[in-house]
Amino acid sequence: MSTTYTVVNPATEEAVVEVHLADLAETDAAIERAAEAFPAWRDMAPGDRATLLRRFAAIVDEHVDELAELEVRNSGHTWGNATWEARNVRDVLNYYSAAPERLTGHQIPVAGGINVTFHEPLGVVGIIVPWNFPMPIAGWGFGPALAAGNTVVLKPAELTPLTAVRLGELAREAGVPEGVFTVIPGKGSIVGERFVTHPAVRKVCFTGSTEVGKKIMAGAADQVKRVTLELGGKSANIVFADADLAKAAAAAPSAVFDNAGQDCCARSRILVERSAYDEFVALLEPAVKGVKVLDPSDRTSEMGPLISAAQRSTVQGFVDEVEVAFAGSSPDGSGFWFAPTVVLAGDTQQRIWREEVFGPVVAVMPFDSEEDAVRLANDTEFGLSGSIFTRDLGRALRVSRGVEAGNLSVNSHSSVRYWTPFGGFKQSGLGRELGPDAPHSFTDVKNVFLSND
Ligand code: NAP
Ligand code: MG
Repeated sequence: MSTTYTVVNPATEEAVVEVHLADLAETDAAIERAAEAFPAWRDMAPGDRATLLRRFAAIVDEHVDELAELEVRNSGHTWGNATWEARNVRDVLNYYSAAPERLTGHQIPVAGGINVTFHEPLGVVGIIVPWNFPMPIAGWGFGPALAAGNTVVLKPAELTPLTAVRLGELAREAGVPEGVFTVIPGKGSIVGERFVTHPAVRKVCFTGSTEVGKKIMAGAADQVKRVTLELGGKSANIVFADADLAKAAAAAPSAVFDNAGQDCCARSRILVERSAYDEFVALLEPAVKGVKVLDPSDRTSEMGPLISAAQRSTVQGFVDEVEVAFAGSSPDGSGFWFAPTVVLAGDTQQRIWREEVFGPVVAVMPFDSEEDAVRLANDTEFGLSGSIFTRDLGRALRVSRGVEAGNLSVNSHSSVRYWTPFGGFKQSGLGRELGPDAPHSFTDVKNVFLSND
């Protein structure tokens, strides 16, 4: 039985294209082709594998505009974001194209011979991508996985398959052999689950909801399958009274409303030292109202729509439970629009304070001391990212060490750079992506002792 999914432009609600969804037999066939392609890819001279990845990067570079246009239409991303995302795939491929020739092990002193370690690729790696950042999250998986000598099967989110499909075609154009990198559009319950249960898939790299991540981790136990999980977040932006308040207030909206808040790193809780609270909130209001929420085909748009009607009603459900302090604007008419919204949270038990909204809604709360700020920031099951605004270097250090999160920034909201590690503490994930060590997470260490005899 053949099924299709109609991709919808979230800014206009217009149908874009029909995409064929793989069934179980097609998924198995793709996994088996990836398994067959593995030995030759693993055994290819490291310099040749590097050359192919650089060629892949060069072809992505030639298609940045095309990929960005696809993402604007499929995901409602702003033009600025979408071009950044396509270039990020290129940059990640270039960065990890250096890895095949540098995947060195150790030579460890032993008696009676020599001892060496090898980082052996795993085989087929299954990458499951969510709809919020279809291109970068795909690249953070397939770049280092391919570089380390694995073959890859990749399942894009059902809602956002278009750029992944195109990247699969561009890889073939670059000369990446058949079966080495295969994109399989389909349902999570079919293609995604098969990555977990198929014995030829040796690792699952998953980004998405904590709920599905837990199921994947439980399912992977059956075959002791390796997993990397990048899950949800409820990150805090902590603003101390000694900070440059104007700068902190100007920066806060983009830290949560970028990609319409559909970002696992969104700083969706703002903690402000009580003595600066009123001033900060007063500065925040014009900054929020100034966010340009426009159709993303308008290149001056700073925020687009939510991904779907379902996502919009989820976000609305959170806002219906609380009082809105102030909000920005959004277009009328068709499209899954939601205006940037600010809530003054009164209680840490409110859903708006505890749960990932994944929409353009931020909750603000005062705190009384440095200890209080760290305690409030850590009062969550998540631990993905966070920011600290202060001029006091000692405090910046203490709070950075105190907040239980994988990615923190001081006087900045930067979080994901491909040359630094990215991932979550606590229920925000397991393992790290990106950075110099990412290829290692797609290998197992083999230890070999060679006797003098
Ligand atoms: P999700 O259900 O976790 O989906 C993420 C990916 O996993 C998609 O490709 C999905 O496929 C697939 N999937 C779903 N069920 C699966 C299963 N049983 N086995 C294997 N793969 C499966 O996330 P969502 O429904 O798109 O979003 C729900 C919430 O998750 C959001 O509101 C947000 O809170 C959170 N989220 C977090 C991130 C993040 O970056 N941390 C990203 C996205 C969402 P389908 O597309 O076919 O469902
Ligand atoms: Mg889901």
